[in-house]
Amino acid sequence: MAGVYIHIPYCRQACHYCDFHFSTNLQDQELMIKCLSQEISIRKDFLKEPVETIYFGGGTPSLLSVKSLDLLIKTLRTSFIVTNDAEITLEANPDDLSKSKLEQLIMAGINRLSIGIQSFDNTILSYLNRSHDAESALVALTDARQVGFSNISLDLIYAIPDLSMDMWRKTINTALEFKPEHISTYGLTIEDKTPFGTWLKKGQLKLMDEESAARQFETLGEMMLAAGYDQYEISNFSLPGMHSRHNSSYWTQTPYLGVGPGAHSYDGASRFSNVRSNPRYTQSIMDGKPDMEAELLHSKEKINEFILTTLRTKWGCNLEVLKTQLGDDLMARRQAYITQQQLAGLILVEHNVIRLTSRGKLLADKITEDLMVDDSD
Ligand code: SF4
Repeated sequence: MAGVYIHIPYCRQACHYCDFHFSTNLQDQELMIKCLSQEISIRKDFLKEPVETIYFGGGTPSLLSVKSLDLLIKTLRTSFIVTNDAEITLEANPDDLSKSKLEQLIMAGINRLSIGIQSFDNTILSYLNRSHDAESALVALTDARQVGFSNISLDLIYAIPDLSMDMWRKTINTALEFKPEHISTYGLTIEDKTPFGTWLKKGQLKLMDEESAARQFETLGEMMLAAGYDQYEISNFSLPGMHSRHNSSYWTQTPYLGVGPGAHSYDGASRFSNVRSNPRYTQSIMDGKPDMEAELLHSKEKINEFILTTLRTKWGCNLEVLKTQLGDDLMARRQAYITQQQLAGLILVEHNVIRLTSRGKLLADKITEDLMVDDSD
């Protein structure tokens, strides 16, 4: 199986926390669509296996007209074998989702929506500089259900300064009222080249303390579990069987093609990164030579990527697979550390698989880093 990611590099306005690649200048959209379609055709031999997932991410893919999305899906279908049951996801902001647009999206073949809700509290939404308010999010969710979307994911953010526990609980409860098939959650991180990054440097933003952030994460886990959701990855919850097939493919080292400025691809051996600039991207496509960098993944990078991605999932890091497929005997390499973390109740080792416990998930980044191959190995 294989997947395709298409990066749509436009947003109506810049959220204060975001460092993704996007532009708020929507003028050159028509040329961009043409180039995205062209890149798909140019790279039609990149994937050797049928495409089972297509993901329109961004940026804000829901800004595109349905006609543009339709063109891109048709180009994908003519360039690759796309399976009949392919998961086709569109990331969307609530303010783009009128009822008629939702109906047209279904007609175009979109069968999964990932809606950037982030919060149901208007003070928080305006602090984040989101382009929508809570009311439009509620309307979009209701309409999406009414027109027939049966696979909806919501994004929510916690650990935002001034997000009280009460506000966080209310946001989770409101989300759960819609019984979304999937919820992705992110603890706010402050990136340098964002307005929040600037405010932090100037002392105008105070981060949530680690303990409060951990309590919001734990509360989330408890509420989701009580509502019947499976935390199949640290940041992702789904109703049974409704995990994101596209994201899961990233965690299982499945090849994927990334189309568009700033998109990444992986062919099983190397990673490719498209240039992160709209004008340079479109020019290179018009010249027939996509501007990208290739990086051959060496054994160390493959091992570390395997540990990093699998440890975050409920399936855990399979020591046998790591040893036989990538030649790394993690148990021998970090035996003392693993025993120490087991005794501390942060990891479990069962049937040759390492998994993080609930408490371990709070320290996932540190534990992962400690297990990775480093210069001393
Ligand atoms: S809408 Fe999404 S991609 Fe655009 S600025 Fe906001 S968070 Fe970033």
